[in-house]
Amino acid sequence: MERDDFLAFAKERLTVKRYIHTIGVMETAIKLAEKYGVDVKKAETAAILHDIAKYEDIEKMEQIVKDHLNDELLGWGGEIMHGPVGAWIIKQELHIDDEDILNAIRYHTTGRAKMTDLEKVIYVSDMIEPNRKFDGVEKLRKKAEKSLDDAMKDCVRHTISFLVDSKQPIFPQSILCFNDLYRED
Ligand code: GDP
Ligand code: FE
Ligand code: FE
Repeated sequence: MERDDFLAFAKERLTVKRYIHTIGVMETAIKLAEKYGVDVKKAETAAILHDIAKYEDIEKMEQIVKDHLNDELLGWGGEIMHGPVGAWIIKQELHIDDEDILNAIRYHTTGRAKMTDLEKVIYVSDMIEPNRKFDGVEKLRKKAEKSLDDAMKDCVRHTISFLVDSKQPIFPQSILCFNDLYRED
């Protein structure tokens, strides 16, 4: 399967707004991958497919999690499940077995400790793609031009701060990601 097939697969499952976001993530991820020596084709594929499960029924997501994934994902809602569930769906339906691509999709919302550069490219691109509009996004875009690791640190800090400020619970994996990035070693 090729780029156009993945785009068609995404378009079928997303709203127009989410599809436009997906194109933005794809274009940003290609640029960052080229800049930081990451496999461009893998970045493109992961970006196109990263939000594929965003609008899946909650019941269906929970069933997939119960049958095939980690129970720790239960009780956190669709936002926490759509990455891991999306990775599972594209493995089953598109027969994508590349663990680098699957992990970039799995961890695009929460991050995790010890992320690969491809995972960071997708996480950062998801936050800074051109259609994103929030206070501080321009600063994050500038950071991403200078350093992938520094951009990742700032993006994760932004997410955690946002969650704290809006009184939302933080998924343990998100905290492990933050600690991994900010621990001096
Ligand atoms: P999107 O799918 O392109 O909208 O972006 P993401 O997949 O990165 O994030 C989806 C949502 O999950 C956002 O509203 C984030 O704030 C939220 N989110 C990210 N990490 C956590 C977390 O640890 N806990 C909770 N409750 N929400 C989170
Ligand atoms: Fe997402
Ligand atoms: Fe996204």
